[in-house]
Amino acid sequence: MADLPFHDRADFEAADRGFLAALDPAVIRTADGRVVWDSDAYGFLDGECPDTAHPSLWRQGQLCVKQGLYEVTDGIYQIRGLDLSNMTLIEGDEGVIVVDPLLSNECAAAGLKLYREQRGDRPVTAVVYTHSHADHFGGVRGVTDGDVPILAPAGFMEHAVSENVYAGTAMNRRAVYMYGPDLPRSPEGQIGTGLGMTTSTGTISLIPPTLDITRTGQEETVDGVRLVFQLTPGTEAPSEMNFHVPDRRALCMAENATHNQHNILTLRGALVRDTRVWARYLDEAITLFAGDADVVFASHHWPTWGSENIVTFLTQQRDMYAYMHDQTLRMMNQGMTGIEIAEAIRMPPALEQAWHTHGYYGSVSHNVKAIYQRYLGWFDGNPAHLWEHPPVEQARRYVECMGGREGVLSYARRYVDEGDLRFAATLLNHAVFADDGDRQARELLAEVYTRLGHGSENGTWRNFYLVAARELTSGVVPPDLDTTSPEMLQALSLEQVFDSIAIRVDGPKAWNESLAIDWHLTDLDRRHRTALSNGVLIHQADPPSRPVDLTLTLTKRDLLGLLTGGPADGIRHEGDLNALNRLTAVLDDPAPAFAIVTP
Ligand SMILES: [Zn+2]
Repeated sequence: MADLPFHDRADFEAADRGFLAALDPAVIRTADGRVVWDSDAYGFLDGECPDTAHPSLWRQGQLCVKQGLYEVTDGIYQIRGLDLSNMTLIEGDEGVIVVDPLLSNECAAAGLKLYREQRGDRPVTAVVYTHSHADHFGGVRGVTDGDVPILAPAGFMEHAVSENVYAGTAMNRRAVYMYGPDLPRSPEGQIGTGLGMTTSTGTISLIPPTLDITRTGQEETVDGVRLVFQLTPGTEAPSEMNFHVPDRRALCMAENATHNQHNILTLRGALVRDTRVWARYLDEAITLFAGDADVVFASHHWPTWGSENIVTFLTQQRDMYAYMHDQTLRMMNQGMTGIEIAEAIRMPPALEQAWHTHGYYGSVSHNVKAIYQRYLGWFDGNPAHLWEHPPVEQARRYVECMGGREGVLSYARRYVDEGDLRFAATLLNHAVFADDGDRQARELLAEVYTRLGHGSENGTWRNFYLVAARELTSGVVPPDLDTTSPEMLQALSLEQVFDSIAIRVDGPKAWNESLAIDWHLTDLDRRHRTALSNGVLIHQADPPSRPVDLTLTLTKRDLLGLLTGGPADGIRHEGDLNALNRLTAVLDDPAPAFAIVTP
């Protein structure tokens, strides 16, 4: 830590460069007054770093919390710090192109208003979504009703909705740990996520794109502005693209090159990303565009100006991902496991000296394990790990072997005193899982997690530890935010809708049930069959003609209504309507507030 280049203030200069106006106060509300964004709550970050925070993460928080309208270059502006992500505004002949309209309508509308106050009442003439993550499209209805061209990378719609369909409940629950939305904003609490401060909690919308970008080199002129695209599927998002604005000598890197090490696997859970192609696309971007750019900007953090700086920045980002990938594979092929590689790997000192390679959002530790997981999966090959007891059973046995709870607690205190918080957490976690009513164990573990959080350079690790500490002492706060908007649900494919029902079937309850229902979707002119047998709901498009228990004739909206627990009244049917009841009787409800740090 002593080696960190705190004398290097270039990021602060870049983050302030082109500042035009701030939102004052920096609080954004819904129409009925609920606060969905408040960056004034982070005013304490002005101060010196206290001993309850890692100085490097504190510094990143100071940079990310800056908010307002900034000029990037002639005719290109950014709204920064008014949501997790940035909204970029590119002025055209008739109006302004909005790139990535934030996560919620309220924040996007507030950002556009701030822009117009400074730059005149320009109409929005087009929207560009750089990728399929909600913090880059969810606020679209805050800037347009949809009567403009909307550009997006190929596969955008499928991926915009699919990431959260099947494991949505589990991801949302874990996202509470990752972002810490309910943690107090304070030097002891939430000080950002590294990528931005946190996610806004307003209304999420989605308007489908009207123009797909399908190949690298594709050029489109939008409102008189030439945009040249580079498709980068499988990088930070499954559907993502960078683009160059040749006439303004500006390069947008979407979320592929930002001022932190990104996640190869986010801690809330997701499919593992591919560091190998990520590095290759960064290399391609340098070749294609770096020579014709005076500024590079992204949909998080601040831009980088100057051709030499741009090449250095993109090269270091590329090498960071490539190094992690190649070294992980090298050590894997020497027989090391993910946990061992994460402990052994050392990043090149030249990269360590660059602030933007630091693990504020992703981390070398969890990214290396993700790369291992991508290639080899959860099993490290050691059969001792092939058939372990589940946590509670294992905890009981460990506690017994260590002389009961008194023994565990005294060992734990010893490791705390020696500063080995990692092993103290392991011991105390066993104590809590062996007996979750043990207040003393819970409080000691909460203390250990708090100290681990305060020592983390990574914003999401800090949030995970601090939320864990809070839940150990105060219990689980049920999440109140609903991230599924009607537009997101409507965007689900029919296959995704039926898959979502299938994964709610309570297997044992349905073992002896057998039924078939045909669904005739009038608005889509499609027929789908669901058949329940052996505890599994299979579905099939365009099924062959055969007798079924029930045929329902309905719209997709009706189907979504049934799925979310609505009544079947008024839906045309033929056959035994009780078949529908028999199906819903075996459907389980997800548990949005499940326990994580207790059994
Ligand atoms: Zn993002």
